[in-house]
Formats: sequence, structure tokens, C-alpha cells
Amino acid sequence: MIWLRSLVPTALALAIAALLSVTLGDTWAARWLAAALVLQALLVTLIMARLHFWAALPRQREVPRIGGVWQPFLDRLARMVKTEREHRQQITGELEQLHRAVDRLPDGLVLLDRYDHVQWCNDAAREIHGVVGAGRPIHHFIRQPEFIAYLEGADPSRPPVLPLPQRPGRLFELRLHRPDEQHKLLISRDVTEQARLEAMRRDFVANVSHEIRTPVTVIGGFAETLLELPLEPAQQREYLGTILKQSRTMQRLVEDLLMLATLESSTAPPEAERIDVHAMIRAVGTEGQALSQDRHQIVYRLEGPVGVMAAPIELESAIRNLVINAVRYTPDRGRIEIGWRITGTEGHLWVTDTGIGIPAEHLPRLTERFYRVDRGRSRDTGGTGLGLAIVKHIMQRHGGQLRIASVPGEGSTFTLVIPASRLIADPSLAPTATEPANPA
Ligand code: ADP
Repeated sequence: MIWLRSLVPTALALAIAALLSVTLGDTWAARWLAAALVLQALLVTLIMARLHFWAALPRQREVPRIGGVWQPFLDRLARMVKTEREHRQQITGELEQLHRAVDRLPDGLVLLDRYDHVQWCNDAAREIHGVVGAGRPIHHFIRQPEFIAYLEGADPSRPPVLPLPQRPGRLFELRLHRPDEQHKLLISRDVTEQARLEAMRRDFVANVSHEIRTPVTVIGGFAETLLELPLEPAQQREYLGTILKQSRTMQRLVEDLLMLATLESSTAPPEAERIDVHAMIRAVGTEGQALSQDRHQIVYRLEGPVGVMAAPIELESAIRNLVINAVRYTPDRGRIEIGWRITGTEGHLWVTDTGIGIPAEHLPRLTERFYRVDRGRSRDTGGTGLGLAIVKHIMQRHGGQLRIASVPGEGSTFTLVIPASRLIADPSLAPTATEPANPA
């Protein structure tokens, strides 16, 4: 009905004009109409001026109140302006949140225009590449030729992996995406750990292949000779012995690899049982004695308490690896001592030998897979190069550690440190004196 209301002033002016024409004559009626028109025009101009003035001001200002027939329109306009303002605030808030989230990303993000000039970047990119300000070419900040070639489209599918001056010792993959024709998005990701694991995987595969190749070649060569040459029975036996030895080496390698894979893949803590450490040490010592064939003197120095909570297969394997190494790296008539005692709050299980010892520079690397001080000696004695890596893993899984001390030419001591939480106190067991296992 608003349009009807807008006709009221016009109708009123016409009615007054009609009245004037009847009472005072047409001249007065015409004058009145002219005056009414001018007044109307002035009023409209005034309203337009106010609206124009309002439109030119910042959006936060309220829509002016004019009243009359204009008011309903202005009320609607005020509602629209309010809704738009709320939308804008919401979008601004979301945008700020997004900016904050993007700034907290560990990956560097740089938006480039079509001339490869920086348009925007997040905090990480500022730190990683030292990007400052917008509008400068990206090659001012990343100068490596590999990146420049990649930027120029040398091979878009192969993003360069580079060290960056701002982050010494780390490696970054710099990958470009094209969100549209006009822009490029540069994502810089720290791939140091990934690269390290990849290098480890490559080394591991190369090492395993190398370890397997030697016995396989020997077995193949001897089998061929046995098949093709008419040999004496004694010689045949000798060759078969070599084949057997090499196949056992391979078997040990496979077993150690499987053990290592199981240890590395299981994130769950080991299934612990109560173990009588003295009994376990004696059992493994007896195996060592068999391996030694009485070439060494093996003695025990066992003190209480004897109870330990650990995975029996794993703890036994750790002790066995140390005892076997002691036998293998100790010359005939050497002495090997296997001991157990509580030192402070920890349990210490040690294997000491009077063997060849290990030069200090090798000690930090001994627990690396396939690391050996003397390759030839390790292989000759049937070593796989995995024993100490296995021991270290087992101890880590039990919250303990492997400690190594050695003097070249004098001997070595390998100690399994068992944390206090795994010890079961048993005061009934008194310390025992050193006792020889095989009086030699
Ligand atoms: P391996 O099968 O070669 O013995 P390990 O991982 O058990 O592999 O040991 C790694 C290396 O540590 C060995 O190759 C050897 O050089 C050295 N090593 C281990 N135990 C002893 C020891 N008791 N005396 C001297 N050297 C040792």
C-alpha cells in the first residue's frame, strides 16, 4: 500500500489547487501548484543529498531516518546493510583463522604470480627461505640452480630436494603446484628424516644382498665342482663341509634378519614374564661352552636378586649374542666372565672377555646393522653383523641399554643394563662367589 500513500501529497496538492481555483481563481491555483512542485523537488533533493552523503561514508554508519514514504525502503536497506556487515565480519574472522592456521603449518607456502614474484607467504616460508615483503622475485630468496631449473619447468614431476642456507643440516623438497594459470604455489617440506630412512633402506638392501651373495656363490661353486669333477671321497667331504658351513651362515643371517624385523615392527612392549636370571645365564653359558669346545675358560659371577621381568626369548637372545661374540673374538685359552649384580637401582648383566678388544673409534657404531670392525674375522667366525643391533633393540624395548667398554688387545665388556622397574627383589638369595664353569 506504500504506493497509495505516496499519492496522498499529490492528491492533497491537487485538491487544494481545485479549491483555490473555485474560490480565488485559476491564477492562484496555478501559483499554488507551482509552489507545491518546487517544494516537492526541494524535498527530494534534500533526501537524495542525505542518502548520497550516507553512501559516501564508511559502511558502519547507520542508514539515515527520513520518515514518510521513504522510511520502509530505508528500513529494508538498513536490514540489508546489517546482514552484509555480519557476513563480512564472519568472512573476515574465518580468513584470519585460516591465515593463523596456514602460518602455523610446518611447511613453507609461497604464492607466486605469473612472473614468479612473491605475492604472499606464510611464517614457515619466511623462516625457511628468508622471504621478506611481497613483489620480489622468488629467485632472490632461493638461488640454487636446481630450483631455478625446476621453476623454469625443466621437469615439473621431479621437485628438487636441497639443503638450504637458513637451515643447515636439513633437506627440503621444493614442490610447485599450479592452482590456476596465473599463479604458482611453492610448498617447501622438510624431508630430512624421510631422506635418512630412504638412505638407510637402500644401504640395508645393498648390505643384505652383499651378505647373501658370498655364501650363495661359494655354495654354487662347490656344488658345481662336486657335480662335474670326479673327486676323492675325502675331498668331496671337505667341499660338502664348506657348503654346509655357508648354508648355516645364510640360515643365521635369515634368522637374525627375521628377529630384527620382528623387533623393529613391534611397537607394543614385550610380553614380560618372571625370569630367573641365574638359570638363564647358566643355560646360555653352557651353549657358549659348547661353541668354545673348551678353548676358553668360562666363569660366572652371579649375585642376587635373580628375578627380572622381561620377554624370555628376547633376553636370552641378547645374552646369547654377547656370549657367542665373546667366544668368537677371544683367542684360545682366553677367559670369559658372565656376571649379574645390582648396581645402584639397576640390574647389570655383563659379559667380559680377554679377547682382541675393539679400538675406541669403532665403539659408537658397533650396534649399527652390518657394522664390523674386521669384516674378514667376523665372516670367518660365522658372524652376520647383526648381533649387537639385535641386542640394542631388545634392550631399548625393555627400557634398558647396552654399554660397551673395550681395550684393544686386552678385552671387552658388554653390559646389559636392566631398569629398576623390571627387577624383582628376592632377599633370600645371598651373593655367590666366582665359580668356574669349566675348570680349564
Ligand atoms: P658380528 O656377527 O660381526 O659379530 P655383531 O653385531 O655381533 O656382528 O658385532 C659387531 C662387531 O663388533 C663385530 O664384527 C666385531 O668386530 C665387534 N665385536 C663384537 N663383540 C666383540 C667382542 N667380544 N670382542 C671384540 N670385538 C667384538
